[in-house]
Amino acid sequence: MSETLANLLQETRQFPPPAELAAAANLTAEAYDEAAADRLAFWERQARRLHWSKEWDQVLDWSNPPFAKWFVGGQLNVAYNCLDRHVEAGYGDRVAIHWEGEPGDTRTITYAELLALTCQAANALTALGVTAGDRVAIYLPMIPEAVVAMLACARIGATHSVVFGGFSTDALTNRIQDANAKLVITADGGYRRGKATALKATVDEAVSRCPSVERVLVVRRTGQEVSWSERDVWWHDTVETASTEHTAEAFDAEHPLYILYTSGTTAKPKGILHTSGGYLTQVAFTHHAVFDLKPETDVYWCTADIGWVTGHSYIVYGPLANGATQLMYEGTPDTPHRGRFWELVQKYKVTILYTAPTLIRTMMKWGEDIPKGYDLSSLRLLGSVGEPINPEAWIWYRENIGRGRCPIVDTWWQTETGAIMISPLPGVTATKPGSAMRPLPGVSAEVVDDQANPVPNGGGGFLVLTEPWPSMLRTIWGDDQRFIDTYWSRFDGLYFAGDGAKKDDDGDVWLLGRVDDVMLVSGHNISTTEVESALVSHPSVAEAAVVGATDPTTGQAIVAFTIPRGHVDTSGDAGTALIAELREHVSKTLGPIAKPRQIMLVPELPKTRSGKIMRRLLRDVAENRSLGDVTTLQDSSVMELISAGMRAGKSDED
Ligand code: ATP
Ligand code: MG
Repeated sequence: MSETLANLLQETRQFPPPAELAAAANLTAEAYDEAAADRLAFWERQARRLHWSKEWDQVLDWSNPPFAKWFVGGQLNVAYNCLDRHVEAGYGDRVAIHWEGEPGDTRTITYAELLALTCQAANALTALGVTAGDRVAIYLPMIPEAVVAMLACARIGATHSVVFGGFSTDALTNRIQDANAKLVITADGGYRRGKATALKATVDEAVSRCPSVERVLVVRRTGQEVSWSERDVWWHDTVETASTEHTAEAFDAEHPLYILYTSGTTAKPKGILHTSGGYLTQVAFTHHAVFDLKPETDVYWCTADIGWVTGHSYIVYGPLANGATQLMYEGTPDTPHRGRFWELVQKYKVTILYTAPTLIRTMMKWGEDIPKGYDLSSLRLLGSVGEPINPEAWIWYRENIGRGRCPIVDTWWQTETGAIMISPLPGVTATKPGSAMRPLPGVSAEVVDDQANPVPNGGGGFLVLTEPWPSMLRTIWGDDQRFIDTYWSRFDGLYFAGDGAKKDDDGDVWLLGRVDDVMLVSGHNISTTEVESALVSHPSVAEAAVVGATDPTTGQAIVAFTIPRGHVDTSGDAGTALIAELREHVSKTLGPIAKPRQIMLVPELPKTRSGKIMRRLLRDVAENRSLGDVTTLQDSSVMELISAGMRAGKSDED
C-alpha cells in the first residue's frame, strides 16, 4: 500500500451550535487553549471532578512506554464515585435508571436504591469468596443487574469481564479461560425479539470447560426452566438477602477495573485492560463535555449494549460518575414494532440520544414516516459512534430525529481508547456532516503518511495518537508483547489505531474506515467510506458497503452492495436502471476512478454483533470465494439472503 489515502468526497454543509445550547454549554472554546497550554495540568483538573481518598503524587508516568501510569500514587473507589458521593451530596432520590424491558415491564431505580443494591451485591460477592484482583465474568441481558454487577466488582476491586449476552458458548468459554474468571454472573435468560432466549444453558456448557470457575450467580429474569448444580446460586437468594451496608475501600489509581475483549472481527480476541483513576477521569470528563450533560434536567439514553465498550463507558461509568438520569432498554428497535425507540424517547422525554450509524441507516431504510408519528421535542442533542457516519445519514438523523434543532456529535474512539477521543463540542463546534471534527481538549491525534509525517490539509493517511491519554488501554491481558506489536509497532512511539482518516482544508478530521479495507484501484488508495457515502447520498439508497475485488486491469475493482430505501422499486428494469444510475452518481460525486465495477441491490448486509458492516465476507461474495467464518455475524442467514436475493448489475464498458 502506498503512502496516503485519496481525498475524493467534498462536503460543504456546516451547522453552527444552537445559540441557546452554546450560551449554557459545559465547555467553551477556552478548553482547547487551556489543554494546549498544559495538557497534564488540564487532565489533573479533570481528575478533580472525582472523589479521591488519596491525591496522586504524579499525573503521568511515561518513563516506560507504552506502559503508562496515570495519577500515580492516587487512590479512589470507582463505585463510590458513581454512587455514594451523589447520595451523600443529597441526590439519593434522583432517578439513576429508568429501565424498560422488552415486554414492556419497567423499573425506576434511584441513586440511593442503586447504591443499596450495589452494596448488597458487593457483600454477596465477598461471601462467595471473591476478593480484590479476582476476575468475574458477567454474561447478562440488558437488565439493571448488569450495572449492579459491574459496580459491585468495582467496589470490591474485582476485575470484571463483561461478555455480550448474544455470544456463543465458544466465545464465552475462551473469554472465561483467558481471564481465569472465578465467578460467572448470568441470568436464566433474556428477552429478544419477543422471545425468551436462554443464557444459563450456555454458561453451563462453557463452565464445564473452565476449571477456574468456582461459582455461578444467576439472576431470574424470564422464569424459564434451568438446570441446576451445586456450583450455582440464585441472585435473589444471595444478593437480595445481603446487607445494604458496605464500606467502599479505596484502590490504587492503576488498579485493574475491567477486561473487555474486542469483538474479534479481526483475530483471536484481545483482552483490553482498563484501570481505575485515569479511565474514570476521562469517561466522566468526556460525558460531561461531549454530551453537555445537565444532571438536574437531562434524560440521557445510550442505546448500546452493556457488552460493548460504549455500554461500559457511556451507560455505566461516565453517566453514573456524573450523576445522570438515564434510560436503559432491554430489547431491539423493531420489537414489538418499528417505532419502539421513538416511543421510548417520547415516553421518557429523552433529551440526549447516543446511538450508532447502523441504527440510523436502518431507520432510513424503514422510512421517515415512523419517527414522524412520535413527539421527539424533548431531544436537544444527538450522538453517533461505532462506524463512520455517511453525510446523508447524518443529515437524515438531524432532520428526522433532531428535527433540525439538535447538534450531532460524531464521536470517534475505540475499546482500546476507553473514552471519546475525537468529537465536536456541542456548544463550540460548527459541525460538518460526516466529520468527527477535532481531537478533544487534552487529546493529541494526527493523520500521518507511512513515514509518520503529518499529512497536509486535504490529505489522507493513518490516524495515530501522539501522546498518552488517561483512559488508554494499559495492556492486552496476559500479553504485553502483543500489546506492543499490535498498537505501537507500526510507527515509532505512536499509537496506531488501525483506522484511515483525512484532514479537510480546515484541518478537520474525517474517518475513512479501517486501513485493512482500503481499496487499491489503478494505483489509488480509495477508502470504502467515501464510496459508501457517495452511494448513500443518492435518494434511493439507505445503506451501502463496498469492497475491493481482484481485477485483471485495475488491480482491484470496486464492488458495492446497496440496500435501497423502503419505497424504492427494484424489480425488473427499474432495478437495472437504478444500478446504472448509481454507478453514474458515484462517478459524478467522486470522480470516474471511484465508479463501481459492479453494484448489487441487497435486502441486508452482514454485520457484526455490534452492528458494524463485515466487509470481509462481502469480499468473498465479490470474488466468488467460499464464505469464511461467519460465527461472529449478527445473523448468518443474512449471507444466504444476499446470495439469494441479490440483483447483480455488472457492466463491461469500463
Ligand atoms: P475489533 O477491534 O474486534 O475488530 P471493533 O474495532 O469494531 O472490533 P470497537 O473498539 O468497538 O471494536 O470499535 C472501534 C472502531 O470503530 C474504530 O477503530 C473505528 O474503526 C470505528 N469507529 C468508532 N467510532 C467511529 C466514528 N465516530 N467514526 C468512524 N469510525 C468509528
Ligand atoms: Mg478495533
